[in-house]
Order: sequence, then structure tokens, then C-alpha cells
Amino acid sequence: MAEAEVGDDVYGEDPTVRVLEQETASLLGKEAALFVPSGSMGNQIAVHLQTSPGQEVALGGESHSFDWELSGLAVLSGVQARPLPTQRGRFDVEQVRATLRNAGGFRPACKLLIVENTHNFQGGAVLPLEHLQQLRTAALARGARVHLDGARLWNASAASGVALAAYAASADSVMVCYSKGLGAPVGSALVGEAALIARARETRKLFGGGMRQVGVLAAPALLALRTQRERLVEDHARAKRLAQGLAALPGVEILHAPVETNIVFARFRGNDAAELKARLAAQHVLVGTVGPETMRFVTHLDVGDDDVARVLDSLRAVLRGA
Ligand SMILES: *Cc1c(COP(=O)(O)O)cnc(C)c1O
Repeated sequence: MAEAEVGDDVYGEDPTVRVLEQETASLLGKEAALFVPSGSMGNQIAVHLQTSPGQEVALGGESHSFDWELSGLAVLSGVQARPLPTQRGRFDVEQVRATLRNAGGFRPACKLLIVENTHNFQGGAVLPLEHLQQLRTAALARGARVHLDGARLWNASAASGVALAAYAASADSVMVCYSKGLGAPVGSALVGEAALIARARETRKLFGGGMRQVGVLAAPALLALRTQRERLVEDHARAKRLAQGLAALPGVEILHAPVETNIVFARFRGNDAAELKARLAAQHVLVGTVGPETMRFVTHLDVGDDDVARVLDSLRAVLRGA
């Protein structure tokens, strides 16, 4: 970060950002990429550019864009969310086909589908490439577009061996995060055809995300992109080991099994998750709660093999009431 060569990125003059955008676009097999401050902004720009006010966006009922970006779809783009059920992030293709439609009578047009891979709140599940291709075909037949929320597309690719570009080819726009598992402090990208990304640059400014000498943030993102992707399989192996250890504890059930990537959801029957979280925090183990008895564990760059054992030891002590 200290050595990053910088320029004014609002004028497209930051050399480090340019390299990051080019390498990201080329890895994903798309024409262009745009560095954005957050994954949420990347998703929201994609929606803004691929819908018109009054339309609908079809997306998973537990997806990030529906559940974790406030009402951004409504507030920033004037669209209505059409949440659909998913299983491990997978849609019912027939239902998607029936949902994507032109406006008619009393019904709004639904011209954009958002797909999330890996699916965060369904246990970091990897979506099969064939499923993404089926969705894309259904969307094309309806004159609709597909946005891929790929905050953890790197994890999907590392786990499945499917090339990033193959996943990206099943969508018109893709958002990827350099933060999260890749370990960069800040930043994401929106990727797509050149014309779309040129317009995205304006929308980023509209949303307040045009940053000046932002090469200081692009430099660690570039390092993450170049050096951290192969390492992700270690996070996945540790998450699996953690899940095995958790499942062996009394009253603990792994949700959204099997664990495929770096996220583990575990239900602690008869325990208050918020209380467990506080007691674990006292032992320097940080977890999230996602329900009265359910916790979410994520493995990443800063979690090593010893840490998995330590988390399990701490949990055993906490569950014993120590
Ligand atoms: C974290 C996340 C985002 C948003 O990223 P931020 O940088 O926190 O805004 C989007 N989609 C998914 C699936 C995520 O997990």
C-alpha cells in the first residue's frame, strides 16, 4: 500500500487501479472491470444499469442483495424485489422462467435475475456450472439479464475446479470481492462488457463511490488476486474439519451440509447463540449469530490449523459452562 503508484481514479488515471481492473476482467473473461468500494455497491450498480424503475428483480430469498443491502433495490433503483426460494443457492429453473417476463396488464416486467455463487447464507454452497447455464438460457429466452453476485466466486472456483471465466460466461455482469476470503482490506469489482462498465463508472460516481488516489487500496487487492486464490482450498479443508468437530459436540447440528467452502452454519440446540458468542469472544474466538440457536463460522487467511482446534476447545469449555 505504501509503495503503490497512484493517480486520480475519478479521471481514470490511477495506474494501480487500471492494472487491477484489467487483470480482474481478463481472469473473468470479460471486457472490462470497475473497482468499487464495496460488494454491495457493485451489486447495486449492476441492478441500476440493468433495470428501469418500476420493474422487478428476481433473486434468492436468502440472497445478500435481498437480505443484507438494506432496501437498496427500492431506494437506489426504484425496483421491487421478487424473492424466490433456493436450495443451496439453486433456483427452480421453471419458476425462474415463469417469473422473468415483460410488463402486461397489472404486472411489472421482471428483466433481471441475481444469482449468488457461493451462496453465503446457505452455507457457502457452490452452484453447479450447468445450473447457472440453465438459468442463463432461461433468462435469454425471456429477454432478461443475469447478474452474478460472486463475492466468493474465487471460493466456488477453488472448490469445484471450474474456471472463473466459465462461471462469468453465464452472466451479463459479475461482482467479485477482493476483501472477504482473499484477504484484501477493502474493495470489490463489477465486471462485464465494456459499454456496461463505462456506464457503471458514472453510476459509481452517482452513488458516491468515485475515489481519487485509490491505488493504495487497489495495491493490496492486486496482491490478494495474484497470491491468495490457490490458498482458498486450505480454508475449505479447515472449515470441513471444523464442521466435523462441531458435529461431534452434544446437541450440535450442521446446517446446509455438506460444507463445500469456508462457511459453517451450526445449530446449538438448547443454547442461546448470543450468549455463546459473547463467551467465545471472551476467549478471542469471533463468530456470528444468525438465529436464536445458530452460529456462523468463517475460515479465512488469518485462521490456521491450530485455530480450528482452539475454537473447538473453547466451545467445549463454553458448553460445559466453564
Ligand atoms: C459480503 C457480501 C457482499 C457485499 O460485500 P460488502 O463489501 O460487504 O458490501 C455481497 N454479496 C455477498 C454474497 C456477500 O457475502
